[in-house]
Amino acid sequence: MKSHQGMISLIVPAFNEEENLPVLVHRLMAIMQPFGNYEILIIDDGSTDQSRYVLRQLSVAYPVVRFLSFSRNFGHQMALRAGYDNARGDAVICLDADLQHPPELIPTLIQKWRDGFEVVYTIRQADPSLSWFKRTTSKTFYSLLRSVSNLDIEDGAADFRLLDRKVVDTINQFKENDLFLRGAISWVGFRQCRMLYKPAARYAGHSKYSFQKMLKLAAMGITSFSTRPLYLSVLLGFCMSLFATLFGAEVLYEYFFTNATVSGWTTLVVLMALIGGVQFIMIGIIGVYLGKTFVEVKGRPAYIIGDTSEIEETVTTWQA
Ligand code: UDP
Ligand code: MG
Repeated sequence: MKSHQGMISLIVPAFNEEENLPVLVHRLMAIMQPFGNYEILIIDDGSTDQSRYVLRQLSVAYPVVRFLSFSRNFGHQMALRAGYDNARGDAVICLDADLQHPPELIPTLIQKWRDGFEVVYTIRQADPSLSWFKRTTSKTFYSLLRSVSNLDIEDGAADFRLLDRKVVDTINQFKENDLFLRGAISWVGFRQCRMLYKPAARYAGHSKYSFQKMLKLAAMGITSFSTRPLYLSVLLGFCMSLFATLFGAEVLYEYFFTNATVSGWTTLVVLMALIGGVQFIMIGIIGVYLGKTFVEVKGRPAYIIGDTSEIEETVTTWQA
């Protein structure tokens, strides 16, 4: 394997992380100092606190710090994409702004890259301090994703990883709006290597991943990498037809060959409710895919950049 040298980009999505950003930047600079050639690219995902002002100050004070500010909140995955689109390094590492992804692991990630790996991804070790709810929802999501798609993503897969320039360029070619990065990176292949890490506690602030955002990510992950839910309706259709045929045969037999009166009303109501429910679920699933197609067909930009460290701005303070 060939050994890599060259520039390293650190990309950090940040949504309302004003207290974490200065600490993060100083920690990263201390760790990256021996590597010489690097940049820290922070993507402000439409923060409504003073993050943008803090970023402007940091980028003026330290030339290694660059930032992009979205015009509004586009979500963590979009921020990561903007990071990949704009990073200049030969290797790109992404990590969270809240210091939950230990920066101390970065030299090891870089070492693996220099050993020849093109994707160095991390798995979050089971963390007893994590809430029961977060652990269970995450586990359920990954097992559901594995069962409906052909992706082999382990429990606790995190968005803390190093990608070689080749892989970043590949990912940047994905034109889909709704890109589930963890799936895409597993899907593209290349020489991959995994590492375990122990998540730290969030440095300041609170989690920005609401339950709604988690649900959205889960639905996006599944519908981006599988059309198997659509076949569910075909399968169910067959099962129900088989059941109806057998049931019909039995009813006909009773009608013609026995004296029993065929009981009607209850059976009808129950069957109608059942079939109605199943049909709505199936139409819903088709609707989700159709909606996704609709969004993709419109071809709107995945995110909009409102401000960057490359533009000199005279307004330095900004109130939400
Ligand atoms: N984040 C973002 N946009 C969002 C939500 C989160 O850029 O809409 C960032 C956030 O600032 C952090 C990272 O994504 O750097 C992970 O989010 P968070 O720590 O809130 O999630 P958790 O660790 O609780 O899963
Ligand atoms: Mg976090």
